[in-house]
Amino acid sequence: MVVEPKVKGFICTTAHPAGCEESVRRQIAYCKEKGTVEGPKKVLVIGASTGYGLASRIAVTYGYGADTIGVSFEKEATGKRTATAGWYNTAAFEKMAAQDGHYVKSFNGDGFSKEMKEQVIETIRSDWGQTDMVVYSMAAPRRTLADGTTVSSVLKTVGEAFTNKTINLKNNEITEVTVPVATDEEVQNTVKVMGGEDWEDWIRALADAGVLADNAVTLAYSYIGPVVTHPIYKDGSIGQAKKHLYNTSVKLTEEFADRGLKAYISVNKALVTQSSAAIPIVPLYISLVYQVMKKEGLHEGCIEQMYRLFTDKLPKKEVDEAGQFRLDDWELKDSVQNQIAAVWDKVTTENIKEYGDIDGFWEDFYQMFGFRYDNVDYSADVEI
Ligand code: NAD
Repeated sequence: MVVEPKVKGFICTTAHPAGCEESVRRQIAYCKEKGTVEGPKKVLVIGASTGYGLASRIAVTYGYGADTIGVSFEKEATGKRTATAGWYNTAAFEKMAAQDGHYVKSFNGDGFSKEMKEQVIETIRSDWGQTDMVVYSMAAPRRTLADGTTVSSVLKTVGEAFTNKTINLKNNEITEVTVPVATDEEVQNTVKVMGGEDWEDWIRALADAGVLADNAVTLAYSYIGPVVTHPIYKDGSIGQAKKHLYNTSVKLTEEFADRGLKAYISVNKALVTQSSAAIPIVPLYISLVYQVMKKEGLHEGCIEQMYRLFTDKLPKKEVDEAGQFRLDDWELKDSVQNQIAAVWDKVTTENIKEYGDIDGFWEDFYQMFGFRYDNVDYSADVEI
């Protein structure tokens, strides 16, 4: 079948298998060229198929020479419908990592569920004995709780509504958007989905089953960003979940101190992923930040960020005063943020190409789904 992109707002409903393979190949090549350092050898990655989780899996495989088990929630192809990008990424990663002699096993299903935790624990027990690193990179719109009820996360403000510029992804027009206030229940639900509860459940389940090694490390990912995005991100409903995630890191490190567990938050850079494209205002901010960071020679994608985290920041234990890794260090440099602040009020539909890297935003967006790689023949029939 010839696969073409079908973009609807912030999502593409098709994915290209050969393009996804190319994306994984490039990320692996980046790490291979950089080489390995000493590090954990049995790594569980939860949310391992796209974005930061996939890049983490690749970075530990090729940066530490680690074996990995990955968990993600993706759809396989049915009839003429392609699989999701994460499904193709996982298939490509499994193939390439196995060719390079690495152990790889992947689970596709609901990471929030008890059943998934049990399956993964059984596999760790039989194949590895124990895991020495757990990366929690799940980004989900909803969560089904143990009692069967499903709660959803929202991207809204807390306290008062917030109006600012955004980019309409249907036509690249710069417009104003008013982000509404989340109700208390919506905030609580967002914390349930994107906070630290499930991360803690995973760590407890692994520890109780005796498959978490002494002195293991676990990481989850967060975002802070500049003041212009605070009402919608840091101080908004998602920010409340990220506060909970941070508090969970402190709690886990304290509670499992006798086993030497270290639970860290890594605050990562704003990048185009399936999750971030859905947040109002953020795609406009990303296109401005890409423009400045590329010009300054500071731009990184997911793989550069995660390779830097695992082979540099983590071995050096280079944390901020709150104990977090700061992979947003270059994004939040004054020299970068001052340039963005200087153009934020000026940017319009007419001049977005001058001030923002809107083409770079769209290139990353299409490439997330396996499109727009210059060395992939998109007119060819592919097996989906
Ligand atoms: P993403 O959408 O690319 O990845 C989400 C992953 O979670 C995928 O592997 C998906 O399959 C998996 N997943 C979703 N629901 C699941 C479920 N029920 N069970 C199992 N797996 C499930 O997102 P991302 O942007 O890479 O986000 C990962 C983390 O990084 C999040 O905590 C996010 O807040 C954080 N982060 C993202 C950015 C950014 O700009 N994208 C910046 C900083 C931090």
